[in-house]
Amino acid sequence: MEKIMTNRLDRGFYKYQAEFEEAALRTLRSGWYIMGKELESFEKNFAEYTGSKYSVGVANGLDALILGCRALGIGKGDEVLVQANTYIASIMGISINGATPVFVEPDDYYQIDVNKLEDKLTEKTKAVMVVHLYGQSANMSAIVDFCKKHNLKLIEDCAQSHGSMHEGKMTGTFGDVGCFSFYPSKNLGCFGDGGAIVTDSEEIRDKIKMLRNYGSKVRYYNEEVGVNSRLDEIQAALLSVRLSHMEELTMERKDIAKYYYDGINNDLIELPKVADYADHVFHQFVIRCEERDRLSKYLDGEGIGTIIHYPIPPHMSEAYAYLGFSKGDFPITEKYADTVLSIPIYNGITREEQDRVITALNAFK
Ligand SMILES: *Cc1c(COP(=O)(O)O)cnc(C)c1O
Repeated sequence: MEKIMTNRLDRGFYKYQAEFEEAALRTLRSGWYIMGKELESFEKNFAEYTGSKYSVGVANGLDALILGCRALGIGKGDEVLVQANTYIASIMGISINGATPVFVEPDDYYQIDVNKLEDKLTEKTKAVMVVHLYGQSANMSAIVDFCKKHNLKLIEDCAQSHGSMHEGKMTGTFGDVGCFSFYPSKNLGCFGDGGAIVTDSEEIRDKIKMLRNYGSKVRYYNEEVGVNSRLDEIQAALLSVRLSHMEELTMERKDIAKYYYDGINNDLIELPKVADYADHVFHQFVIRCEERDRLSKYLDGEGIGTIIHYPIPPHMSEAYAYLGFSKGDFPITEKYADTVLSIPIYNGITREEQDRVITALNAFK
């Protein structure tokens, strides 16, 4: 039997093959490949989709975070509160600007624990970065209140939460900036690298547009030392195609998740919890098991691929050894790192494949 992989990007391509091929060919034949009509059109569509005033395309999700922080003036001497169990790119978005990430433990839903924010405040705290991890929206009402009360900037890392709402508003629109990745495996993925920032502030939009293009608004006139971080025309054209199908793609993911919730039943396995105030678009379906490594080996033997998001928390990674943390400093985060396991979930997974995953999980003992 064919192995069930954790992701199958080809399924997402063939679903809308004719539209993708038309968009790619149109762009190739246009003779214009960077900063043109396709980007302009995608930026407009993406802003509209998220319910933001503006969106600015950049080269990838990490750049969206780096430039988002930079545009808010976050830099040396500043502290940014961020959840400890996130993907390391969130942390790099902060530290590359010279600011210090201050780790906050997650709650039962894998999101930043709003009750633990206050303890971490200092005079240096400048912002909160919230990550809607695995596709579930964090407790945004509480976080927005906290930021207002303490006069903090708010950055949303939406690399895993395209389309995820909180009280009828899309993730990415609560903060000063919402930062997205279009890496191929994300819910809204392109066919290479891509990213975007959404904002309601014209000033922030203009600043990011300037920064992404060598710090230049007017050609050859450079106001700041910027970067080269542009979303190219082909990716923008392909993203517009995928974006036009986002509602059905998101519903499909929720439906796949529901089938897992209904089918998986094993006392050794804990299913992901969804908060009553949250929406979950299931970028990942993350289960937990005390004997996680034995489970993943067993599933591999059954022809089912799994992946750990993430095995080494940022505070334990070599890159952040300089922050001086050690094992035991963030016990909830470390516990998650030792017990989480992501099972196959992607647009185009079949019921037969899901049945195989469910049967194998239920037979694990
Ligand atoms: C994927 C991801 C990023 C980085 O996106 P890239 O496009 O790969 O740079 C940032 N944060 C989170 C939470 C992610 O999952």
